Amino acid sequence: MKYIYLDHSATTPVDPEVAELMMKYYVEYYGNPSSVHYFGRQVKKALEEARSQVADFIGANVSEITFTSGGTEADNLAIQGAARAQAKKGKHLITTAIEHHAVLDTFKYLAKNGYELTVLPVDEDGLVSVEDVAKAIRPDTILISVMHANNEVGSIQPIAEIGKITREKGILFHVDAVQSLGKIPVNVQDLNVDLLTISSHKIYGPKGVGALYIRKGVKISPLVFGGSQERKMRSGTENAPGIIGFGKACELASQRMAEESKKLTKLRDMLIDGILTKIEHVKLNGPRGDKRLPNNVNVSIKYVEGESLLLSLDMLGIAASSGSACTSGSLDPSHVLLAMGLSHEVAHGSLRFSLGRQNTEEDINYVLQELPKIVDRLRAMSPLYAKANCQNS
Ligand SMILES: *Cc1c(COP(=O)(O)O)cnc(C)c1O
Repeated sequence: MKYIYLDHSATTPVDPEVAELMMKYYVEYYGNPSSVHYFGRQVKKALEEARSQVADFIGANVSEITFTSGGTEADNLAIQGAARAQAKKGKHLITTAIEHHAVLDTFKYLAKNGYELTVLPVDEDGLVSVEDVAKAIRPDTILISVMHANNEVGSIQPIAEIGKITREKGILFHVDAVQSLGKIPVNVQDLNVDLLTISSHKIYGPKGVGALYIRKGVKISPLVFGGSQERKMRSGTENAPGIIGFGKACELASQRMAEESKKLTKLRDMLIDGILTKIEHVKLNGPRGDKRLPNNVNVSIKYVEGESLLLSLDMLGIAASSGSACTSGSLDPSHVLLAMGLSHEVAHGSLRFSLGRQNTEEDINYVLQELPKIVDRLRAMSPLYAKANCQNS
């Protein structure tokens, strides 16, 4: 059977060039980068080269990059670290309703432990308003966190404009850029951010590696204490092969991004237009055009269950998602779609296709050939659909 992977927002395959390089640092150059001998020095050198590849990709200085075990840890380090370091200054935090759980749940934890939290709404396209951010700021606000691009609906937030406000007011600004990295330009200077989270396995690097950009002069408290690695910001022997792979993945992404995003945008719009014309009672979730990630398609197909759609697609070898990988498996509808104003019922019938490097027009055509048949079959069995059709006629 032919397998078509359309779940790149959950994770990506490791690029063969990245995997090959990493293998060397597992079996050949295996020293501890903190060791002074040859074995350690070789790894230390490669580690610093990776730091410079990551820094270059986001317009940062090497001293501003702290490697972590992934996007989740970087989000936690940024938010808990900033909240703790500034607790004397104030206790008010601001975020949005559509953040990844690594951000949202960290804020909720802080809100239960002495901090005050404002969660901003989004419009029906999943976009945050700059004005809402400005209005939520109080004299005791110490941290604002807004994601760059949403992992479920691909909406791209007005980060640079928000950053202008936070800079004027002297409030720390954290951005989760895990989904935007490698797809649209992510530059910490242009975006006016103080803290920025990225993750390796969403850009064809290995899993279990990420980084937090910490602007020079910004003070945050570490979460992990020990051997003082990563300038004391993240103790523990470095995941050298992973970090080196992440560096390589950044280098490759920076070379390929422009061309790749152009191709993905074309495939994305082909899939969106195809679904909207071939299937009735379908709603596109998230904006169209350049406010949407080049690789994201998210639709609500009314009168069917997202989970049934996923299973039927899976039987044909098509891998999609019903929302974020972290919340699927639970029956709660997506917090992102609910924040955009969808009813529970419509949110339940949602599908996310996230495209990537290897996808072709042929893949999209296959989905467009099979999905309408699946929807017809499921709707034929759906009492909701029968009822709706009765009312309409
Ligand atoms: C995947 C993802 C994360 C978590 O990154 P991990 O490296 O898997 O821990 C955080 N934020 C967003 C927006 C993501 O898509």
